Amino acid sequence: MGEPLFYLQDSRGYVGNDMMFWAQEGAGYTTDLRKAQKYTLAEAQAQHDCRHTDIPWPCEYIEARTRPAVDMQYVKRDEALEGSGIILTITKPEKIKKERFRCYGCGVFLTAVDYYCGPCGRCGAENRP
Ligand SMILES: [Zn+2]
Repeated sequence: MGEPLFYLQDSRGYVGNDMMFWAQEGAGYTTDLRKAQKYTLAEAQAQHDCRHTDIPWPCEYIEARTRPAVDMQYVKRDEALEGSGIILTITKPEKIKKERFRCYGCGVFLTAVDYYCGPCGRCGAENRP
């Protein structure tokens, strides 16, 4: 076992729920641990001492708590399924039917407000249920 190493979190913000860490070669911050810089104890402590919002976390602790996830920006369904044998049934998303109200008296279409707050402007029927 070597010397314990640390990631430095910028605790001032998050991307979604993801913590931000200092990236390698001073390239700003990253949520991607593979791109995060690892610091020795002395480096991590020194960085924290000059910027209290930079919080050192033991790499081992953080690495045990990553979650595998798939970023939809990096996948293409057509590309992935080409030649895979899967045939997708593509259906258009169903349009949500707008609820319509008709006057019981004359059959005219009414807005929900007119229906519930009637009487009907055309025939005067009270449509309130
Ligand atoms: Zn009516």
